[in-house]
Amino acid sequence: TSTRSINFSAGPSALPPSVLAEATAGLLDFAGTGIGIAEISHRSKEFMAFLDETEALIREQLQVPSTHRVLFAQGGGTGQFAAVVLNLLARDVLVRPTLAEGEERVLDYVLTGSWSKAALKEAQQLTAALPGVRLNTVVDAKALSPNNAYDRTPPHSAYNFSPDPALIFYCENETVNGVQFSKASESDVVDETGFPFHLLPKGKLLPLVADYSSSFMSRPIPRLADHAVIYAGAQKNIAPAGLTILIVREDCLVDTAAAALLGAPPVPSVLSYKYLSDGKSVPNTPPVFSIYVAGLVLRRMKALGGLEAFEDVNRRKKESVYRAIREGEERGVFRGKGAGERGMKSLKGHRSVGGIRASLYNAVEEEEVEKLVEYMREFVEAET
Ligand code: PMP
Repeated sequence: TSTRSINFSAGPSALPPSVLAEATAGLLDFAGTGIGIAEISHRSKEFMAFLDETEALIREQLQVPSTHRVLFAQGGGTGQFAAVVLNLLARDVLVRPTLAEGEERVLDYVLTGSWSKAALKEAQQLTAALPGVRLNTVVDAKALSPNNAYDRTPPHSAYNFSPDPALIFYCENETVNGVQFSKASESDVVDETGFPFHLLPKGKLLPLVADYSSSFMSRPIPRLADHAVIYAGAQKNIAPAGLTILIVREDCLVDTAAAALLGAPPVPSVLSYKYLSDGKSVPNTPPVFSIYVAGLVLRRMKALGGLEAFEDVNRRKKESVYRAIREGEERGVFRGKGAGERGMKSLKGHRSVGGIRASLYNAVEEEEVEKLVEYMREFVEAET
């Protein structure tokens, strides 16, 4: 592993070297079968057992309630931008097949950065020609920022949720902009999570959807049980790309074919939550290798103390980097050149915003983050 760089990539991201070594062995021989993991049938009893274990590791560490299914899909976060709209519109149509005069199906979007905007754009194109469907921007954080940028979560007073929406979307961690809902945010937080759960419509099974792509398995999910759908591309914290993990409440496993007969948009099977769930996540060939690495990463997480232990380490990593940033800002510097020579890679900001971005996913070790912080401090010294 001595040739390996410290990898701060935003995704695909660093994976633990011990897991990569285990996965290398598994590529040649999975679970003593004499067949490699990339070659074995997804319906073999050995793989099915591994899949069950992987699901159990997620359920246990995130404390997923029995009301929710854990599903393994493909198509990434982008696939889910469409899937959540299609499945939740189908759900709404089955609940309310006909709309009264003036009634609408409203999709609520909370905009806090590029990914929530991308999700809204996908919803726009999927619903543009549908009668009775309207998109509502609950809040646009950029318009409220003094910098006219996606640089903070909005104050709770600025949210305008619809009274009876078919979907409420938010992105828990905006990977490009670095905006996360948390109690440490600058908004006027009255809720321990930073997201205004207390403002949501009351007394219903809420159609609340959260994009957890870049924070999944980095800390517990607050109010998990209140969500209809939580999804995450696995390529940040737990696996190679190609796997999307979903947590779906059972009332969202709807018969999309029946809904289509009532006027809902038709849903391709691979995007249908019921199809995935009825087929126990293997109605068609799943991303076997990505699931394998995810399972190995989750086993390792459990052995190292589970999600809470990772939450603690991740908090320390974040605080250390932010401390160094503040120090640099106070002294009026920041740029990032020369990190490459120190074995640090993928620190370039997203192409849309520039600057520097260090992603501190689970597999980035505390000592590695300290190397970055040390470099940042040296840089500040040299520039001031
Ligand atoms: N949502 C978030 C928060 C993301 O960070 C990303 C990818 N970086 C996406 C969605 C899109 O995911 P994918 O590339 O898996 O389609």
